[in-house]
Amino acid sequence: MRTYGLTKNTRTPFMHRTLTRSNQHFKKAIGRIPLGVSSNFRYWGEDKTIYVKHGKGGRITDIDDNRYVDYRMGYGPGILGYADPRVDEAAREGMQTGGVFALSTELEYTVAERIGKMVPAAELVRFSNSGTEAVLAALRLASAYGGTGSYMVVEGGYHGLFDAVLWYADIEKWNPAAGDPPIEAESEGVPQILKKLAHFTPLNDANYLEDLLKRHHQNIGAFLVEPMMGNCCSITADIEYVLAAQQVCEKYNVVMIVDEVKTGFRVARGGVQELMGFKADLCTFAKAVGNGYPISVLAGREDIMRKIGNGVVHGGTYTCHSVTLAAANKTLEILDETDALETIAEYGRAMQLGMSEVLTSRGIPHSFTGHPSMGGLFFNETAPTNYRDWRDSDYSFYDAMAPELHELGVLCEPDSREPWFICEAHAADDSLEHTLHAFEQAVDITLEKLNKNAAIA
Ligand code: PLP
Repeated sequence: MRTYGLTKNTRTPFMHRTLTRSNQHFKKAIGRIPLGVSSNFRYWGEDKTIYVKHGKGGRITDIDDNRYVDYRMGYGPGILGYADPRVDEAAREGMQTGGVFALSTELEYTVAERIGKMVPAAELVRFSNSGTEAVLAALRLASAYGGTGSYMVVEGGYHGLFDAVLWYADIEKWNPAAGDPPIEAESEGVPQILKKLAHFTPLNDANYLEDLLKRHHQNIGAFLVEPMMGNCCSITADIEYVLAAQQVCEKYNVVMIVDEVKTGFRVARGGVQELMGFKADLCTFAKAVGNGYPISVLAGREDIMRKIGNGVVHGGTYTCHSVTLAAANKTLEILDETDALETIAEYGRAMQLGMSEVLTSRGIPHSFTGHPSMGGLFFNETAPTNYRDWRDSDYSFYDAMAPELHELGVLCEPDSREPWFICEAHAADDSLEHTLHAFEQAVDITLEKLNKNAAIA
């Protein structure tokens, strides 16, 4: 029986949450919208799905008027905060330009220049609307460049909702003696014929990667990797691994696509590539680019990118809408020229320090993964180094604690694989105090419940 230390916390929760209106709205919405939401991940159950009234800074208010300090920040786009007045003002000016024209504007070049300056690997740049579109374009481009359609992805990664990346390596069903883990589709409707194109490799194992390439290099044209796994507890690649992977890719003529949809313009001005000191062949960005306005970026080496328009098709009706482009221009200017990212990282560090004090004083082993601006919280003193580690770990404490935090006005993702996203606006009010107060209470409530359950068992 596992028991947890419990210290007496005499403070009472500062918020009594009801979800009456959200629950009522859910019943209405489900009649017209599958799961009552427009992205499966927003469905948290019939009585737990939240509908938002508005967001401002680092906080959101739901339709029951519950206020939360939000650490989901839309899964990362809110880098400055919701309804940032500087960005919204720019977006309003962008509206005056007129929308989309099936033609380009001069501002595209300005934003591309800025990106090229912030990310040295971004020799050339193309824009899309979502992370999914950018990664899809990157894979297509890499396949065209290498002349082959198979690719390698990292176990436990997430790269959007298009067929080629809706596969996963089923570690549970895996019998190591029988070879590589079986590959399963994430969704019905994904053509089974695509299965043979995807090859999986664990993070931080360059030997595995090389072995995979030795066996399949004739067919493999791309390696799609997120060195800080924004959808798997921010588990982070060792720099040595990234450099070794880069060498292996070079040796076998494989295009290395670094997916910075979450890390880009967040963990550093030049993303994870700047943090780790390397340059991708191709890279993708989305979330932080426009502070929530839908825009994404495919960028990379000139010789590869020049294939666009020279055999490879890329585009779309809504690429570079004048509103989103203006928002991106302003957001990137702020991220590049102010200390917003330093503020964000500092807040993240202070939050982790405060959480650590609470957990340590109760004897709860823990560690943080990733970067303070998008850190994962892990209940073991050794942080996981790949998805297999995470899978084998005990994340039951997190699972039990997250709903308690929601009750107390702190919105983290219920799934521990999602990092805690910090925005600049969190630092501008009493969010940290509120968060740590709630965290302490949530931990104690969770301990109490788990101890009770353990005693019953
Ligand atoms: N790539 C990564 C690393 C992501 O985290 C995501 C979304 O979370 C995507 C791609 C897909 O982006 P989008 O949801 O904008 O299509």
